[in-house]
Amino acid sequence: MNGNYGQGKGVALPQDADQNGLSTRPDAFAPLQDTFGRTFDYVRIAVTEKCNLRCTYCMPEEGVDFKNGEQILSADEILRTIDVLARMGVKKVRFTGGEPLVRKDIVKLVEGAANTPGIQAVHLTSNGIIFPKYAQALRDAGLTGINISLDTVEEQKFKDITRRPGEDKVLESIELALQLGFPRVKVNTVVMRGFNDDELFKFTEMTKDKALTVRFIEFMPFDAHQIWETGEYFLSAETMIKRLKERYPLIQPASGTRTEHHIFQVPSYKGKIAIIPAFTRSLCGNCSRIRVTADGGVRNCLYSDQEFSVFEQLRDGCSDEDIVSTFRRAFKDKARDGFESKKKSAMRESTVKFQGRVSMTQIGG
Ligand code: SAM
Ligand code: SF4
Repeated sequence: MNGNYGQGKGVALPQDADQNGLSTRPDAFAPLQDTFGRTFDYVRIAVTEKCNLRCTYCMPEEGVDFKNGEQILSADEILRTIDVLARMGVKKVRFTGGEPLVRKDIVKLVEGAANTPGIQAVHLTSNGIIFPKYAQALRDAGLTGINISLDTVEEQKFKDITRRPGEDKVLESIELALQLGFPRVKVNTVVMRGFNDDELFKFTEMTKDKALTVRFIEFMPFDAHQIWETGEYFLSAETMIKRLKERYPLIQPASGTRTEHHIFQVPSYKGKIAIIPAFTRSLCGNCSRIRVTADGGVRNCLYSDQEFSVFEQLRDGCSDEDIVSTFRRAFKDKARDGFESKKKSAMRESTVKFQGRVSMTQIGG
């Protein structure tokens, strides 16, 4: 283990970093950067492909051919990958999926990540259905943030979109997350024209008494053929902002994370509203994300279908430097933005390994 990042939670920067936090070391563990000067210090790891819901925009009713058991990374393999990334300056980990809470060792994963030197934040994105079962254990394990997905508060609409009952359970999970004092509690709402755009203000009102951030996410039309076309459900971030400003003329800009550039607060409300332009991709210039799939695929962009795998390496007893080199190869040719990524994916020759993914549950959103 490289000791330069110090020990324990909350270690901010390598000792040999310049004032911008960039490593001045020429060694193998220098921070991951691309040719556009972006530094990648946030990893999103899908820990399973399985899920207890079947959201219509995410996967088909019958599910997909879920990878399982030996086909996905073990807890030790995931934690080793996090350790290597932390030594390259990664500070934040998000566990996603599939539904990360259906993975039995999720508490161990959170604890291991939280105790990795250099890691300052460990977050999780969950559909909230079984969150109460693990909530206290996750808090004790060091989870610093939870995003709970909820697209509608209406019982029948919830059943229509997720193909399962449970909006009451999700609402209960949001309350519980606040009660337990998780430092960051967010609600992820995918906005679909004609389905839930009439609930925009209902969700905004949730921020009146609750210190949480509601994130309105642009719907990304995604299917088995990686066809990303805007359909009838699409409602742009711009339109969402316009509607909010019309309804709440006094709404104020607020501060948020790097992908939450469009963030607002209604005066006197406790929580915030963030608008995520997931499809219009206006925040790609701020990208700091590394994506790892449950089966060890490293992706440099949600819109790219190119993957470099750490799976075989981890199974074959590779060195830490081998893992670093896979991440460097994956980010060497990262495109300027999601539009370029998509174009490159369409044109790419068969010299690199393709991993067409048929569902967002395999990439982690
Ligand atoms: N199962 C967990 C959940 O639903 O929160 C984590 C995985 S899910 C793939 C991560 C996030 O991606 C969720 O907030 C989900 O709503 C979002 N998502 C999935 N498919 C999407 C799509 N087609 N467009 C926009 N967001 C999507
Ligand atoms: Fe499951 Fe999340 Fe996909 Fe819905 S969005 S099917 S909850 S993985």
